[in-house]
Amino acid sequence: MAKIEVKCIGLNDFGQGTFKIGKELKCASNLLPKEVANVDKDKNGKFYVSSILKLSNDRVKPSCDIYNKCGGCHLLHMNQEAQIQFKKDYVYNAFKEYNLNTKLDNFIASKNPYGYRNKMQVAYAFKDGKIVYGFYEEDSHKIIQLQNCLVQTKTQNEIVKQVATIMKEMRIQPYNEDKRVGLVRFIMIREGFVSKEILVTIVTNSEIFPGRSEFVKRLRAKCPYITSIVQNINKRKTSIILGDEERVLFGPGYIVDTLSGINFKISSKTFYQINHEQTEKLYSVVKEYANLTGDETVLDAYCGVGTIGMTLASSSKKVIGVESNKQSVINARMNASENKIKNISFVCDDATEYIQKTADSFDVLIMDPPRSGSTDKFLSTINNKKIKRIVYVSCDAKTQARDISKLTNYKIMNKTLVDMFVGTYHIESVVLLSLKN
Ligand code: SAH
Repeated sequence: MAKIEVKCIGLNDFGQGTFKIGKELKCASNLLPKEVANVDKDKNGKFYVSSILKLSNDRVKPSCDIYNKCGGCHLLHMNQEAQIQFKKDYVYNAFKEYNLNTKLDNFIASKNPYGYRNKMQVAYAFKDGKIVYGFYEEDSHKIIQLQNCLVQTKTQNEIVKQVATIMKEMRIQPYNEDKRVGLVRFIMIREGFVSKEILVTIVTNSEIFPGRSEFVKRLRAKCPYITSIVQNINKRKTSIILGDEERVLFGPGYIVDTLSGINFKISSKTFYQINHEQTEKLYSVVKEYANLTGDETVLDAYCGVGTIGMTLASSSKKVIGVESNKQSVINARMNASENKIKNISFVCDDATEYIQKTADSFDVLIMDPPRSGSTDKFLSTINNKKIKRIVYVSCDAKTQARDISKLTNYKIMNKTLVDMFVGTYHIESVVLLSLKN
């Protein structure tokens, strides 16, 4: 296809610029409203911007050199205000679609656009006889060689680089996805921003790891701040990073970090919010919305390792957390006991199954489901349970609005957005619902 000149008329849900070709609405990354650009199609039929003829005032030079190739961030070509407006608009439209109250009370922007991630996952492979490591290109398994990822910390960037150096020195082969040979597939790092503890997990294609102790010795020598190293074995042909089996190579096999004054044990598989500073702000909004006096029984549905419930326990009579992931429930119970929180208990169950069979009544419900949202059965059950307040935390306002539209006995009181992932199209939304009289 020859280049076509287009004028961008808006942004889609993923922050891509939209334009019309004939009557059809099309989109391309790295294009802003009112910009005029030449677009072309790549070999997969996707439009891309080949040159911009008229620039938007919202455009900034991306701070990352590989932004155009890497699929990690989406909005780095927008200034901070435009990014925030995009996120506000996304949520506004999501609620408007269901004729819900669109009022926004607060947008908690992140003061720190860089180095905010406490977790890093990087793939390793061979390319042209050299070890490459980095994130995947959008919608592909092509690794884009990492330079210095700005949303990760310096320490994390240093570790993944040193791992590649040691692999080269020791002739350790990275994994080849097509041939399914080679050893090292991924490195995952978890960093405790408060505790400064660091866990490095090496995901291998086999339990046999020749030169394992030497590898650990060299990595510790180069990065003495690492507090634990784990080998995770993943032999499956899958894009899921971690396998089931693990072996601790050094240290305790986990880190401990402090969030809102509570200590949490985090291993490679533990779900733990990525942005420490913003998570504390998110949880304080939840606490404010829950407005507890100490007499309430609280249900923390989709509770993960119990972080929200535990931060509310000291101002509640009793908290029950429900979570379907077994390991998370084990960790949640351990965390509660180590922090000596006695008025919280955890149930390992599907949230919908649990809510239907429990005879317990709750004064306040906190729900923080995955991106896909909750289920009709869960929502219809709580709609009739006459819970005083619901605090709905969501990483996708579209499914959140859809779910809230089914809670017909409740009205929206407040809404706060917390920017947990600057530079990406993601936004966390917290809504307070109150039982209608
Ligand atoms: N509230 C936690 C975790 C939220 S992530 C925090 O802030 O850290 C969503 C959680 O929902 C995940 O832990 C996931 O395992 C859990 N989950 C997903 N489907 C579920 C279901 N059907 N029933 C219960 N929990 C579920």
